[in-house]
Amino acid sequence: MRTQVAIIGAGPAGLLLSRLLALQGVDSVVLENRSRVYVEARIRAGILEQHTVDTLTDAGLGDRLHREGLEHRGIYLQHPGTRHKLDFPELCGRTVWVYGQTEVTKDLIEAQLDGGPPLLFEVSDVTLEDVDSDSPRVRFTDADGVAQVLECDVIAGTDGFHGVSRPVVQAAGGRTWERTYPYAWLGILADAAPATDELIYAWHPEGFALYSMRSPTVSRLYLQVDPAEKIEDWSDDRIWDALDTRFALEGWSVNRGPVTDKSILPMRSFVSSPMRRGRLFLAGDAAHIVPPTGAKGLNLAVADVTLLARALVRLLTEKRTDLVDTYSDRALARVWRCTHFSWFMTSMLHTSGDDFDAHLQLSQLRRICSSEAAARELAENYTGLPVG
Ligand SMILES: Cc1cc2nc3c(=O)[nH]c(=O)nc-3n(C[C@H](O)[C@H](O)[C@H](O)COP(=O)(O)OP(=O)(O)OC[C@H]3O[C@@H](n4cnc5c(N)ncnc54)[C@H](O)[C@@H]3O)c2cc1C
Repeated sequence: MRTQVAIIGAGPAGLLLSRLLALQGVDSVVLENRSRVYVEARIRAGILEQHTVDTLTDAGLGDRLHREGLEHRGIYLQHPGTRHKLDFPELCGRTVWVYGQTEVTKDLIEAQLDGGPPLLFEVSDVTLEDVDSDSPRVRFTDADGVAQVLECDVIAGTDGFHGVSRPVVQAAGGRTWERTYPYAWLGILADAAPATDELIYAWHPEGFALYSMRSPTVSRLYLQVDPAEKIEDWSDDRIWDALDTRFALEGWSVNRGPVTDKSILPMRSFVSSPMRRGRLFLAGDAAHIVPPTGAKGLNLAVADVTLLARALVRLLTEKRTDLVDTYSDRALARVWRCTHFSWFMTSMLHTSGDDFDAHLQLSQLRRICSSEAAARELAENYTGLPVG
């Protein structure tokens, strides 16, 4: 087998990269080690920045997003007794969209299987070879158990945090940074109409809570919990009671409904640099992880592959190396900005049990709710800075 770009991993980063390359006449093959059913069912991110919506729309993937997605013009910041709205269009002229990562993935897979480049599910034993040469290759076993070799010009490592690509880059040098937070998120998906028009980020002495939604009939809610908590210890009633406590506001209540998904998500920041070794390029969670408080993970993956697609098209169609040579630095500049914003939101909203921390957090929240400059800084970062 031969292609121009071998793409490892069919998450949003790999699938979108394949699509963006195809639109510019560059061939690719996407290799995914899970099944289509598994990949389409993974419940993950749900907030799309303006640049993500624009990128998907320009790539011909915006029909269902614009039909079923929900445009959101702000968020509420809450601390006990006060709920304050930040109006994004007023503050920075941009909005965000609520459209689940599951739906983005389904749209990308459908487009890919409808005449797009090859997408092979359930491959195994993926090994990257000769990435320092101009003709690297990928060995793998296909879904029928047959050993295959994929010759290519470039490999894109979009195989997420636990993939095989990052270790190959790191084996040649570079470094990583990691921060593990002493918090986790217990997330539920519930068949309940959202009781709010915008997401609510709530600071509470018992821990942070986030009220978000996936559609007019489905709510997505999160509670800060200790990372050692076990999901079996959280009955639906216990979760709803904790949500009632943390979102309490006079004259308003959380809408309850059947819980259809329940999980605990650890929180960490992680950055790996550089995002390139020879002809192997990393993008998305393969190179970086952010805690979900800033809603940045999926959007960063989209930003990375937007830059990478341009760089690879230039390399493979014009034989010019300028954009591939600057890809890692340009991608990492945005990665660090989003890493800071995600850390900032996490640090401001999650309670540590320390009273000094609590006073600092409340002071910061009051500042954002009373100063247009402070609110604008949050709004610009939340809605996403332009992709350079
Ligand atoms: C449990 C969870 C919950 C999350 N919740 C949120 C949230 O609420 N808000 C938010 O903003 N972000 C959230 N995120 C982050 C966001 O979902 C990710 O940033 C996003 O999925 C990144 O996309 P990606 O394509 O880079 O990586 P991924 O989506 O991880 O895709 C990588 C793909 O590579 C495949 N793969 C791995 N190894 C191999 C291999 N050896 N060979 C072939 N294929 C391989 C994987 O199966 C996967 O399909 C969450 C992440 C996780 C893990």
